[in-house]
Amino acid sequence: MFREIAIGDIVRMRKTHPCGGYEWKIVRLGADIGLVCLTCQHRIMLSRRDLEHRAKSISPGDSESPKSIKP
Ligand SMILES: [Zn+2]
Repeated sequence: MFREIAIGDIVRMRKTHPCGGYEWKIVRLGADIGLVCLTCQHRIMLSRRDLEHRAKSISPGDSESPKSIKP
């Protein structure tokens, strides 16, 4: 479904997070994919399969550094 995932990409989930946010940012790639909620900064790890199952769409992130997630 998703060909390539890169750090910094923005993922829109099918279900909103309890905080009300639905956009997540990829912060880690590996056996599991690390995601941070853009609304509440909550961090989760999902397997690639889970991510593909839950994500509605993934769009390339802008040029900002992945390290800019921390406030
Ligand atoms: Zn959240």
